[in-house]
Amino acid sequence: MPSSFVYPEFDSLRSLFSSVATINGVGPTTAHLLQKLGCTIIRDLLWHLPQEVQIRRFSPAIKFACPNELITLQVRVINHSVLRKQKGRLTSYRVICSDSEDSIELVFFNPNLSYLKNALVVGSEVIISGRFEIYKGRFQMTHPDHIGPLTSRAFWEGAEPIYPLTQGLPQKMLQKIIKASLIKCPQLPEWLSSHILKKYHWPSWQTALQKLHSPSHENDLHLGHTCRRRLAYDEILSNQLSLILTRCQAEVAQGHALTGDGHLQQKVLETLPFNLTQDQVKALAEIQQDMASSSRMVRLLQGDVGSGKTIVAFLCMVKAVEAGYQVALLAPTEILARQHYKTMEDWARTAGVSLELLIGKDTTKRRQKIYQSLAEGDVNIVIGTHALIQPEVQFKNLGFIVIDEQHRFGVEQRLNLSEKGINIDILSMTATPIPRTLMLTVFGDLSSSYLRQKPSNRKDIITTTIPLARLNEIVMSLKRALHKGDKVYWVCPLIEESESLDLAAAEERFAMLQTLFPEKVGLIHGRLRSHEKEVTMQAFIEGSIKILVATTVIEVGVHVEDASVIIIEHAERFGLAQLHQLRGRIGRGSQESYCLLLYGESLNPTARARLNVMRSTTDGFKIAEEDLKLRGGGEAFGVKQSGMPSFKFFDPIAHQDLLLQAHDNARAILSKDPHLLGPQGQALRILLRLFEKEQTFKYLKAA
Ligand code: ADP
Ligand code: MG
Repeated sequence: MPSSFVYPEFDSLRSLFSSVATINGVGPTTAHLLQKLGCTIIRDLLWHLPQEVQIRRFSPAIKFACPNELITLQVRVINHSVLRKQKGRLTSYRVICSDSEDSIELVFFNPNLSYLKNALVVGSEVIISGRFEIYKGRFQMTHPDHIGPLTSRAFWEGAEPIYPLTQGLPQKMLQKIIKASLIKCPQLPEWLSSHILKKYHWPSWQTALQKLHSPSHENDLHLGHTCRRRLAYDEILSNQLSLILTRCQAEVAQGHALTGDGHLQQKVLETLPFNLTQDQVKALAEIQQDMASSSRMVRLLQGDVGSGKTIVAFLCMVKAVEAGYQVALLAPTEILARQHYKTMEDWARTAGVSLELLIGKDTTKRRQKIYQSLAEGDVNIVIGTHALIQPEVQFKNLGFIVIDEQHRFGVEQRLNLSEKGINIDILSMTATPIPRTLMLTVFGDLSSSYLRQKPSNRKDIITTTIPLARLNEIVMSLKRALHKGDKVYWVCPLIEESESLDLAAAEERFAMLQTLFPEKVGLIHGRLRSHEKEVTMQAFIEGSIKILVATTVIEVGVHVEDASVIIIEHAERFGLAQLHQLRGRIGRGSQESYCLLLYGESLNPTARARLNVMRSTTDGFKIAEEDLKLRGGGEAFGVKQSGMPSFKFFDPIAHQDLLLQAHDNARAILSKDPHLLGPQGQALRILLRLFEKEQTFKYLKAA
């Protein structure tokens, strides 16, 4: 048990955080099995909720039992008899029992005779429980779940919770263990206000748990059950409290007031071949306002692929340069870093600021040179990959960081970079629209700017879904497209998460297309060296290659303006987020673009619905909302990408109303009692501990 699980300052939590091994009868073997279920401490057992409820009726007489019903009976043992023997070995065995009117046969295959002789003593009365059957007109029960004394009736009557299991752990045993853990479950001080409890008719935390573990009907397992909602609320409230606490801390931190006079920015704006969209203008103003304030900026710029985030970011970057600071732009891949460098090169030249690219593959000599000029302040803006995070990279005065596709970096990495200066302003960018409801759970109130409009020169993308079986027709239309001069992406999917199979499929498709369109096809995938990728990409950009067969490596950021067709093979295997990202590769120029989604034979309803969503809209924010509704198994849009915490009780769809309530509630609480020192505050500290949010305690004054 990790020592962090010991919380001496909260006596009431001690039993909850003690090991499962403190339960009678749980030895090392069982503890190990429980661990496989995610249960290491008592709290985890309490949180292991039943997934089904099984009703077992006690029937006062055999004749009242129904075929196939799970039933508990009280019977007298009449006699034992061997049914069949094979090669001298007993293979089946039966015991005749009866009540005052009828008899029933208990049937056993390969029985443990000595056990049966003891458990079913002829002439004694016993409780039996199991599935009631009628076989050739006779009542029988095969391998009863239970044979025991009359006193055992209570435990085998009524509803029982059925828990998710792991191999080697019997249901009955887990039921007993969880029952024992419920006895250890303390009454904790109430952290919810009586107002909320009344509003939703919620019981106490302890009562809620007890009820959820003793369901009497399937409805008791429902996400909308009062007790379940109470636990979901507790969880999301702890999430919101800790987010707000962390966030307030970041805001209070003194930052730089990055104000420039706009002269560099103006130069860039003057030479742009387009006008900024309204959304771009607004986002720019919002970001610059944050930059100019003396508190630290942490802001997210959200906008679909192609919505024009790059220019917005760059205009902010030169503003920081005007203010006398250095700027770093962190990109998740080398392709992206290079692409940003290429885009920004001209703008930087126009503005007269110095720009460098730093990637892992750079030679030592080149790297040393860049390190030196960064440290001396000769470079204004550096664009790079993870190479920027290395300790050797030192800045003279880094004041502003832009993180592209921020979800692709760990917290640690983002932190490392932001520690290369003091209270650096941070602008994160994401092309993965996050549904508003999920935004709150991931980022709390993080300030966000949105680019919803597309630049006006864009034509819509026409999306069609076609069965893969019609590959021939597709190839025909491909011929026509190439004839017209279109450039085509052909995306092959990930096969069973295996990179080599994945690659094999792409290679096969490449070979096939190569024979049809000699010299016109290129292949790009994750295993290639970066210069190989570079060469192929370049050929595609220049047009010596017209079809680019790719695995999902092209997903992020690749920008080839005149690519106007994307064909996605086995589109049903992709999530909506991915499909949307992939489609974003086209429609970047002013020509009409086409997206062909090819699907395999077995199309389940969710996959079908996903493809329909893709056909009906190109608005990423809408797609994100739809995906949230469709999501199977918590694979929501942007969830994995945005680093959404996994929740035990809270369901982002079923409990949406609770999220908003918890958000408001958390803010109200913290504005009244910012250090959680009052009676409710103290109880909320316990809630935070319960959900292991203790990292937020450093933002609170000691009680
Ligand atoms: P994002 O990074 O959001 O996916 P980009 O910044 O790469 O999108 O922009 C995509 C393309 O649109 C680029 O070629 C860019 O120059 C162009 N662009 C950006 N803003 C506008 C605008 N307001 N009008 C026309 N084209 C624009
Ligand atoms: Mg971009």
